[in-house]
Amino acid sequence: MPDATPGAGFACPDLTVFCRLDELGLEVTGQRFEPDRAVLVCRVVEPDGSDERWCRRCGCEGSPRDTVIRRLAHEPLGWRPTTLVVTIRRYRCSGCGHVWRQDTSLAWNTANDAVLAEGKRVLIDDPHRLDGVQVLGVDEHVWRHTRRGDKYVTVIIDLTPIRDGTGPARLLDMVEGRSKQAFKQWLSGRPEAWRDGVKVVAMDGFTGFKTAAAEEILAAVAVMDPFHVVRLAGDALDKCRRRVQLAIHGHRGHKDDPLYAARRTLHTGADLLTNKQKDRPTALFAAEEHVEVEAT
Ligand SMILES: [Zn+2]
Repeated sequence: MPDATPGAGFACPDLTVFCRLDELGLEVTGQRFEPDRAVLVCRVVEPDGSDERWCRRCGCEGSPRDTVIRRLAHEPLGWRPTTLVVTIRRYRCSGCGHVWRQDTSLAWNTANDAVLAEGKRVLIDDPHRLDGVQVLGVDEHVWRHTRRGDKYVTVIIDLTPIRDGTGPARLLDMVEGRSKQAFKQWLSGRPEAWRDGVKVVAMDGFTGFKTAAAEEILAAVAVMDPFHVVRLAGDALDKCRRRVQLAIHGHRGHKDDPLYAARRTLHTGADLLTNKQKDRPTALFAAEEHVEVEAT
């Protein structure tokens, strides 16, 4: 039989180290393969000299109370999406009863960075991804809530396939920050011929994006993306409904007031209402006093 003992310079196989989870302060305790993904169960490794067993309010020792589970996307391993299921211990103070969790903030931040770096490698480092873009979409997202505040990322997508009905939107880039400057800088970094090809820029109401688009792509028309248009229209409708409600009844909407009872139906597109639901606005608008709401 051939000798399978690893030679000098090889350590025992170790899934935690192989998946670089030791860098995140995690240790793999189980694995499961699902048809579309691998799931690794992890626990948080308490660093040497950790003081997390001790209550920060009164200084007494805490005892393990229970555990909570967090699911986290890890970088894909072997081209397979990988999900981490992390068990986090909760302690209860023996003195004052205060309950706290194991500190995992470092692990989350590092993990998030690793996932973003991998996403950038897979999605964004493709030189042809910008070819043929005519409809550009820009929006901002919070990608991380930290104790020091929120961190924003400006997401730039290609909406051309949506307009043409040929496929889903494509992620083009992610830029840190939410400012006009972030988007403007990104646009100015593109070749002029590419910018000339962009005909429409869809965005939310943030005027900074609009100014950036106007300054960098002279020919493009700025439009508000449908989601934000619908939300603004909905807000206007609510405002009108509340004003009329107050004028007629002298108080804010109660559950028995017809205007209040219809508040959700009014937001639903007529083609999505059932026949029974359609009766509600019809009855509502039959009353002369509701004419302003009907017009809005
Ligand atoms: Zn305590």
